[in-house]
Amino acid sequence: MTKTVLKKQSQFRSQHVFHKGFSDSVPPQNLRQARFSGPVDRRQTINRVAEATPPRDANVGAGLWATLAATVSSLPLSKRIAILGSTGSIGCAAVDVIEHLGPPYRAVALSGHSNCDALIAQAKKLRPEIVAVTAECDRAAIEDQLHHLGCETFFGPTALTEIATHPDVDAVLSAVVGAAGLPAAIATVRAGKPLLLANKESLVVAGEILMREAHITAAPILPVDSEHSAVFQAMQSGRRNEIRRVILTASGGPFRNWPADKIESATPADALKHPVWQMGSKITIDSATMFNKAAEILEAIWLFGLEPQQVEVVIHPESVVHSMVEFCDGSTIAQLSPPNMRLPIQYAMTYPERCGGCGPRLDLTKSFSLNFQPPDFERFPALRIAFDVARRGGTLGAVMNAANEVAVEAFLRGRTSFGSIARTVEETIARHTIVQKPALSDLLAADHWARAEAAKLLTDAAETEKLTGATAK
Ligand code: NDP
Ligand code: MG
Repeated sequence: MTKTVLKKQSQFRSQHVFHKGFSDSVPPQNLRQARFSGPVDRRQTINRVAEATPPRDANVGAGLWATLAATVSSLPLSKRIAILGSTGSIGCAAVDVIEHLGPPYRAVALSGHSNCDALIAQAKKLRPEIVAVTAECDRAAIEDQLHHLGCETFFGPTALTEIATHPDVDAVLSAVVGAAGLPAAIATVRAGKPLLLANKESLVVAGEILMREAHITAAPILPVDSEHSAVFQAMQSGRRNEIRRVILTASGGPFRNWPADKIESATPADALKHPVWQMGSKITIDSATMFNKAAEILEAIWLFGLEPQQVEVVIHPESVVHSMVEFCDGSTIAQLSPPNMRLPIQYAMTYPERCGGCGPRLDLTKSFSLNFQPPDFERFPALRIAFDVARRGGTLGAVMNAANEVAVEAFLRGRTSFGSIARTVEETIARHTIVQKPALSDLLAADHWARAEAAKLLTDAAETEKLTGATAK
């Protein structure tokens, strides 16, 4: 296995932390109330976007629009930003964007998991007020290195919720990988603060609860994921009740043109070679299986208050059109830019304003083509699984996510085949007894159960493979 593969594997260690990170409630002094004192013209723009006939549950189904209408005047205060997962791919890009934007934007808090050297280097450069390490580490050694910077330090899985509720933090950018990001996402919205969300797993696991909590405190959830940022931008061309469907684009990943039998036995090195995006190991594998798009289907449904049949996926290998919204009159609005996460990160930070960007721009003086093709649900069962999960709801999102996290980690460690990732997720889902309208405790239980069940399935599959191999010899 190559050095790159090993390095990337070490970045993905989100298992079980999800269960440790919850605190029961947010101290009242840290709750920030929505304000209505912002400039009138800005409020009018957003109110037009937010105008809606709420579908399904009025609190949850109105998605992003319900909270943005109420809080837009508080958004320009989102300058003191906490970057959770600052040592990762999105975290590092977010640091670049903050440096590009300059004051008054500041990274006031940074968190890393296992990559303490990178975290300390970031802290020395950015001088944040708070630094947190979530994995087991040598606390004294880290405090020693940060002492002269005057940083407040937090350690362990609860560190992220402590940052989210810290009075010095205006807004939280969650760039943590996996369900481990959920407690801090919930703490952020409970505290009434803008949540700049890259960690899509939070919505996959607990979309209904997260959106409901955000609605209660009027905390905006701003998408960082490029497809959802594109949808958010395109949606501003009309009213929410004029939207017919949302079309999420997908690059197709490294196995877009591979036959099914070759995909089945792809290696971690094959799967980590994404043709377009440089990302963390978990999302790169998810792009190869298309569980990333599966997660994004659920992310879009919760974030924008859509019905599952309003979301479609199209393969677009160039990743220039980041997604589209089709309105009732047949007009389809797309957002285009070169594939670079700095733009959606910056838009989430500066919304509702736009500032000069630090990423590349489209060069339309050179000829290029944009291609679109329908996805293959047979070679990439993750898409079919996602629509099934979206329709059946309840605890299934948590189960799909947990089983996938376990299977991806096993694959990266060379303990299972690429093909078994989707099989493990599907079989875990098939064995699950759904709890409808789940409370957070039901989701935690489902997550816990699915991790154990998926691990058992993977062990059984490995045993069978060993036996089959032995018989074949
Ligand atoms: P990376 O693996 O590059 O970074 C993950 C970050 O989370 C690192 O800072 C890592 O710390 C930290 N981390 C890992 N495990 C835990 C844990 N258990 N508890 C707390 N922190 C942890 O991932 P990406 O930046 O690629 O992705 C981050 C999130 O953003 C994911 O949800 C992904 O789906 C989403 N996303 C990513 C995109 C991309 O282009 N990369 C695009 C759109 C969404 P350390 O490195 O110190 O161990
Ligand atoms: Mg995406």
